[in-house]
Amino acid sequence: MVSNGEAGLKESCGVFGVFSPNKQVSALIFDGLYTLQHRGQEAAGMAVSDGQTITVIKDVGLVSNVFDERTLLSLEGSLGIGHTRYSTTGASNWRNAQPTYRPLGVAGFALAHNGNLTNAIQLAEQAGMLPGMVTTDSDVLAELISKKFLEHETNNDPLITAFKEVYPLAKGAFSIVAMDEKRLIGIRDPKGIRPLSLGKFKDPDFGWVLASETPALDIVNAHYLRDIEPGEMIVIDDTGPTSYRLFEQSEIDPKLCIFEFVYFARPDAKLYSVEVHDARRRMGQLLARTAPVDADMVMGVPESGVPAAEGYAFESGIPYGQGLVKNRYIGRTFIDPAPDARERAVRRKLNPLKENIKDKRLIVVDDSFVRGTTSKTLVAILREAGAKEVHLRFSSPAFKWPCFYGIDVPSREELMASSVEPDKLADILGADSVAFLSLDDLVKAIGIDENKFCKACLTGNYPVAVD
Ligand code: AMP
Repeated sequence: MVSNGEAGLKESCGVFGVFSPNKQVSALIFDGLYTLQHRGQEAAGMAVSDGQTITVIKDVGLVSNVFDERTLLSLEGSLGIGHTRYSTTGASNWRNAQPTYRPLGVAGFALAHNGNLTNAIQLAEQAGMLPGMVTTDSDVLAELISKKFLEHETNNDPLITAFKEVYPLAKGAFSIVAMDEKRLIGIRDPKGIRPLSLGKFKDPDFGWVLASETPALDIVNAHYLRDIEPGEMIVIDDTGPTSYRLFEQSEIDPKLCIFEFVYFARPDAKLYSVEVHDARRRMGQLLARTAPVDADMVMGVPESGVPAAEGYAFESGIPYGQGLVKNRYIGRTFIDPAPDARERAVRRKLNPLKENIKDKRLIVVDDSFVRGTTSKTLVAILREAGAKEVHLRFSSPAFKWPCFYGIDVPSREELMASSVEPDKLADILGADSVAFLSLDDLVKAIGIDENKFCKACLTGNYPVAVD
């Protein structure tokens, strides 16, 4: 993501697209985006084509704030894409919302991006954009595509030619849905860092769906066909999908973000054909084997810690119970810029079930440890509520390195485990003990070859060079 003077601007988003000549797609895109809401809660948008004209509606806010029956009805057409946006910056504004639209004479195109480019500044320079003009990666790519389109205007298919020329220049993570008036396009970077799946409607009507996560296919009654391959561009029109290879074979090296399995994806998503909930449960089981402790109750930190807590309880034989109630109307506490605001946000979000935890020795399972704010605040909340012991268990190794490929994490200085020795953590957090799942066990729990993952946030080995 290119920054417009806004330090640390990064995004990690949800994308969705539908091509179905027999359907009005805006309501389907709404359902798809709703299912992908966890991937971005700052802004939402949709572009729909009636075959002649693309109409875009986007704004800051949740999917349900941006769209209502009236706006959905005004988006007429059987082809469209959508986006939910999530960035670290407070400066969420209309301009940064996606899809990004560019007119090209009488026609145009729109695109929506999940991921983060590591060479966006260079690409912006190449596109001749002034620093003040640039706000997002998709803006830069859209500008470059427009320029290439004009260069190839006399070609048979200048837009596809432009996509083929521009995307190989991009470095980093990108899972893209794009469209012109008649076609739906999906693209994935050569490492496939962010997910993108292809589905087909179950009813006999002809129709195709692209989605960041498979539950968004379920919700619109489409079945999963396959993932868009790393380095692939798929173009879907009246004749069905056509696949193109945009990158040299030597550049193709699948490295799906392992944090999608740990935290980011929905538990009902399938990645590499593995159900995320299943993998998270196994993470908890392995954690119980390597970091056992005598206790009265295992509890998960709602919601992402719950599957691993179930696995921990199952493996250890210690009863599983609920110790916290999550306020379901609160989104992500993680992105508040000020530490005390983040702490207050954790308290607003999680309240203890006092009778259930009073005088108990608790094993508290969460999915990840980043800044430490959640854990520290939680230990205090649980102790105030009368817990006798609090043992923290994390179903992934500590997050030690910033992500440059689209997951919203702070700078290295803010990542507590990168500067604090493991044996000091319990003291700092006020816990009786702290333990993490090892990287080997994380990979074992997922059950996929470890070389197929980007693990940079846990190891510091970045698969795509970062300036
Ligand atoms: P922290 O409080 O900074 O240690 O963050 C860890 C908590 O935030 C865990 O409960 C995670 O479920 C959650 N979390 C981890 N990574 C992210 C992220 N990229 N965005 C939002 N929440 C996250």
